[in-house]
Amino acid sequence: MSVWAVLAAAGSGERLGRVSADLFSAGAAGQSPAARPDLGDRPKAFAPLRGRPLLAESLERLDASGWVDSIVVVAPPGWEEPVILLAEELGCGTVAAVVAGGATRAESVRLGVAEVGEDAAVVMVHDAARPLVTDEVIERLLGALGEGWDGAVPGLPVVDTVKRVEGAAVVETLARASLVAVQTPQAFVAGVFRSAVAGDTNATDCASLVEAAGGRVTVVPGDPRLLKVTTPEDLALVESWLEESEAPA
Ligand code: C5P
Repeated sequence: MSVWAVLAAAGSGERLGRVSADLFSAGAAGQSPAARPDLGDRPKAFAPLRGRPLLAESLERLDASGWVDSIVVVAPPGWEEPVILLAEELGCGTVAAVVAGGATRAESVRLGVAEVGEDAAVVMVHDAARPLVTDEVIERLLGALGEGWDGAVPGLPVVDTVKRVEGAAVVETLARASLVAVQTPQAFVAGVFRSAVAGDTNATDCASLVEAAGGRVTVVPGDPRLLKVTTPEDLALVESWLEESEAPA
């Protein structure tokens, strides 16, 4: 069973704000900040996480995973070359292709899936914005596919009460017990997923495409540390977790 990962890294990440070029790890992308004056306005995948581009963490982890055979990286348009250089520098031998992404996440995923090899039995889509992907989560996802599900997603219980609003008015309070907050990676039977991605280009996750196509998707336990980096505070939190995990016991 060949497992292909599509690493979605083409988002602009406006909420992270502009980060000054001197924070950029010149070595990681093989170019000095001085040679790249545009680095001050770089996309989220190149925001610095402990001196490396954010993308490096998830890329390295997927490459090192015994479960993943090949990786397609979906790069911000115009950033394909720095992504290739980064993969080379990290020695990520499982990277099979780097492609430019589209205007929405769903479009980026579709462009990435187009590069997935015919040998794929499973396609797993992961957001580069969630750096701390683990083998334990991947194993749970693949286990669910082995049980016969078309798709599997990691989820966490929702701790806050969630309300639906229209403008300023609350129109519904949702039953919390039946809600989960869904993360990535999300894994799918390759054939099912290939036909599902031809659909909606505005879907915010891949499972909803499979659900809409009539696929059966299950939820496996997620990981609180699979946080999606959206703000500079998230970046600092992930950095502190990485430092903690490396500290001597
Ligand atoms: O924008 P959002 O935080 O939902 O993005 C989730 C993931 O999807 C990120 O890793 C981002 O790089 C990726 N993305 C993409 N192409 C887009 C928008 C987002 O690959 N056009």
